[in-house]
Amino acid sequence: MDANVAVAAAGEAMCWICKENKADSGEHKTKRSDLLAVLGTPTQDAPFYFNDLNRRNQPVKSLDAKILKMPVRICASCNNARTQLHDRAWEHMSDRLRCRRLAVGRWVRCNRVFGSSVKRQMLDVHLYFLKLFGCMLAEAKANGYDLPIDLDAFSQAIMSGRPHAEVHLQFGRCDGTVGRSNLHYWKTDPGESVLAGWLYELDTIAVSVLYVQAGKFEHRRDLWHPHSRTSSKRFQIADFRYSKRDKSDVAGPNTVA
Ligand SMILES: [Zn+2]
Repeated sequence: MDANVAVAAAGEAMCWICKENKADSGEHKTKRSDLLAVLGTPTQDAPFYFNDLNRRNQPVKSLDAKILKMPVRICASCNNARTQLHDRAWEHMSDRLRCRRLAVGRWVRCNRVFGSSVKRQMLDVHLYFLKLFGCMLAEAKANGYDLPIDLDAFSQAIMSGRPHAEVHLQFGRCDGTVGRSNLHYWKTDPGESVLAGWLYELDTIAVSVLYVQAGKFEHRRDLWHPHSRTSSKRFQIADFRYSKRDKSDVAGPNTVA
């Protein structure tokens, strides 16, 4: 399927979160406040340069440029009112993490990030990354990829304000990259266990967002989940400084979006 045709068709579609309103609101791939914090404001004379799989060095002259937003959309009500607290929680956490020097392997207690309502706000961070992940899945599906991941579960989690049982986060150090990786997925056998993930990179910090199919993988304490018995109250700083690592560390995933 031609990617541009699929994206244009998806632009007319309904919002994947509420399924009630027309999708007419673009969500930023990287949060606007995060871009502003680490890059400042681009101008006509001093643009940023955006790279993706298709083209390199595309000039970006505004933080509201279309290229910074996801092509598959959600509705304004979901993007603003419904998920506003989720956005705010991540904005706060992003700010707190970028202010401190993160030591790889160390554990950070969530109440060091959020002084009060820590449980609620960490859940909101989880829900913020569900919104981005769901948009990427919707985009991949619109582009003809048959991913064995149910988008409805993402919608239900956001609509009900409850966690998605199979989506986990890792917070860690990054190597100066700013942006969003492609969505990768790994499948052991047809019909067998599915693992998918992508990386939200923000200069000195990064968040790995992982879909880990329930019951198919061993529990890992280093993955953070709002309902994890062992790791809901703290998270371990992961190492996402990939440019310093041997590339052979990364098993060849399938890139889908
Ligand atoms: Zn909606």
